[in-house]
Amino acid sequence: MIIQTEPSFPEIREAVRRLCANFPGEYWQRLDRDRSYPTEFVTALTEAGFLSVLIPEEFGGSGLGLSAATAVLEEIHRSGCNGGACHAQMYTMGTILKHGSEAQKQAYLPKVASGELRLQAFGVTEPTAGTDTTRIRTFARRDGDDYVVTGQKIWISRAEHSDLMVLLCRTTPREQCAKPSDGMSVLLVDMREAVGNGLTIRPIRTMLNHATTELFFDDLRVPAANLIGEEGKGFRYILSGMNAERILIACECIGDGHFFIDRATAYAKDRQVFGRAIGENQGIQFPIARAYVQLSAAAEMVNKAAQMFDEGLTGGTEANMAKMLASEASWYAADMCVQTHGGFGFAEEYDIERKFRETRLYQVAPISTNLILSHVATHVLGLPKSF
Ligand SMILES: Cc1cc2nc3c(=O)[nH]c(=O)nc-3n(C[C@H](O)[C@H](O)[C@H](O)COP(=O)(O)OP(=O)(O)OC[C@H]3O[C@@H](n4cnc5c(N)ncnc54)[C@H](O)[C@@H]3O)c2cc1C
Repeated sequence: MIIQTEPSFPEIREAVRRLCANFPGEYWQRLDRDRSYPTEFVTALTEAGFLSVLIPEEFGGSGLGLSAATAVLEEIHRSGCNGGACHAQMYTMGTILKHGSEAQKQAYLPKVASGELRLQAFGVTEPTAGTDTTRIRTFARRDGDDYVVTGQKIWISRAEHSDLMVLLCRTTPREQCAKPSDGMSVLLVDMREAVGNGLTIRPIRTMLNHATTELFFDDLRVPAANLIGEEGKGFRYILSGMNAERILIACECIGDGHFFIDRATAYAKDRQVFGRAIGENQGIQFPIARAYVQLSAAAEMVNKAAQMFDEGLTGGTEANMAKMLASEASWYAADMCVQTHGGFGFAEEYDIERKFRETRLYQVAPISTNLILSHVATHVLGLPKSF
């Protein structure tokens, strides 16, 4: 007998599945063709309260842990939908919750919880720095009651669909800092005021429908009151939010993996070639079974990382390992699903080619596999640092 653990938060999962049923493949295919934003889907999730699960009850959220959020995103992805348009509304607020002042929490969190304010843009990556975040050049110079920001960011997703953005910039040049990770600060940018007044947003068209953009800052004034935490400590604040992000992305991969396995299994049972179901051939069965085995193992790591996060344990290594295993398992499942479907795997109307493109992202963003391996090699195994 197979011992299978019951999925966590069954009521939440069922409610998410019901909501997602209103957004079938044709909806996503249309948006994908036009590279447009799933406004109706995001509104439905907001109104149902699914995007505020991590916000404490005192600020209007449901005060649940990351494990509940993983259930929401996994089901979205298993249903064939995509949480990329709004998942950051769940966790970007963590920077304010953990490091903001009481006044900032009171001013923003209730409105983020209700959806009145969209806080789902997170500006870290720059074209010249790449993964080496301490080399960012976007600079915020203090001038009276304001910071004046100049510089450039790339791959900043949902910037056009956010009222607020958490922005990492340098406030002290790298050369003047004791450590490269010092001298960076986090500002909360009000996008409604910024666009056209020093901030320009340029969309980037990519292989998936992801509303990602390039940002140009040209003397953008941001009130000093919008500094989160202490000046110069921003890198640490951003790092602490990244663990949540990696775990949530990992569970989207688990959802994607289930989508591919569900579809491949159903198709293999149904499709008749040479007078029998293709699923009778072990050449078809085994890759599906292998995908299931790999995904189940990855899911265990995702659950462990989420649990550690909820218990307040650091868990950076586990969050990284969960993201790597889950993104590789979903990619294997995606490739398997295309192969199982033969030519139909390439047809837009089957949604498989779309999900194939979507799940490929996660081996690169929000952190690429090599950087995770490097973390494990040096921080866990004590191997010499290569950079
Ligand atoms: C669709 C999309 C959405 C994104 N959304 C956001 C967002 O909202 N906000 C944000 O701030 N960023 C975002 N990103 C950026 C994303 O986090 C980065 O693309 C990712 O972290 C990789 O950085 P990079 O592209 O600069 O690659 P690079 O740092 O240029 O690296 C390129 C390749 O070289 C490898 N590499 C680099 N250095 C080493 C080394 N020392 N050893 C071994 N291998 C190495 C990397 O693993 C990678 O495979 C997004 C990216 C994409 C594509």
